[in-house]
Amino acid sequence: MQILDGKATSKAIKEEIAVEVEKRKAAGLKTPHLAAVLVGDDGASQTYVNSKVRACERCGFKSTLVKRDGSCTEEELLEIVDQLNNDDDIDGFIVQLPLPKHINEQKVLEAVKREKDVDGFHPENVGRMALNLPTFLPATPYGIMQMLERYEVPTQGKHAVVIGRSHIVGSPMSILLSRNGYPGNCTVTITHSRTTNLEELTREADILIVALGRPEFVKADMVKEGAVIVDVGITRVEAPETEKGYVIKGDVAFDEVAPKSSFITPVPGGVGPMTIASLLKNTLQAAGDKPA
Ligand code: NAP
Repeated sequence: MQILDGKATSKAIKEEIAVEVEKRKAAGLKTPHLAAVLVGDDGASQTYVNSKVRACERCGFKSTLVKRDGSCTEEELLEIVDQLNNDDDIDGFIVQLPLPKHINEQKVLEAVKREKDVDGFHPENVGRMALNLPTFLPATPYGIMQMLERYEVPTQGKHAVVIGRSHIVGSPMSILLSRNGYPGNCTVTITHSRTTNLEELTREADILIVALGRPEFVKADMVKEGAVIVDVGITRVEAPETEKGYVIKGDVAFDEVAPKSSFITPVPGGVGPMTIASLLKNTLQAAGDKPA
């Protein structure tokens, strides 16, 4: 069994990006600039956004954080998106999800200019991904693909089973793994809450991508010997005895599943850090060869 170490891989990618940024500066190219929009006071979202901003700074990017409280209207948010779309210094930006219930998420995501959509959520970018055209890949699936590539995990001809069909993880993961290329060329089964024979399918998986958001859902008896296990889940589980009052759990019961696997991602330290590295890669791509 080998750990797919997202923390180390993401660190290596960020170091490569930092070198790239220095080279850009020396060549008279623009410093990449990422903006993040945070609406409301969701604790997890604040943590994610803060780590994205910190990661930008460490790689030599410029970063801007636009914060609004939960009373921000849809109209006000669309106005912010419009300003960022038209700000030539901003290469890419993200609107941290989830948004408060009174704001139509899809409407906001569709308002983001395709060329600045470094989260890869705009319908046109999703379409380009499905057609295998150059685009921004959604950060979490992109991070998983990079991890599979860097660890040279064999994917061709493998049966990949994806649990979860969300627009940000499960669905794009199924598209990417089935594309013609490496990593890819898998035969993919995508499952969701209405799947009736989930355990039968997971037991057939050579590669199991787990993204449903239920702590320790996947147990040892649900996986095949030698399977590759990618655990996307991140859930805060109350733990009053700890300093923070909670612990982070993945969707896989790591201790019992790991001994059966060939490769496995831990939580934390697996997919999570890769997501940020991918966002930075997308922002670097968005900066392209714009002059300083
Ligand atoms: P989501 O939008 O809530 O989607 C969950 C998916 O799981 C849905 O498609 C749902 O099916 C399916 N599902 C729920 N219960 C199921 C069951 N019993 N059997 C099979 N499928 C089931 O979640 P998400 O945004 O994709 O996130 C999933 C997890 O990944 C969460 O823990 C989230 O925090 C985490 N996450 C981590 C990162 C990272 O950077 N590591 C990034 C994003 C998300 P239906 O469609 O039928 O409802």
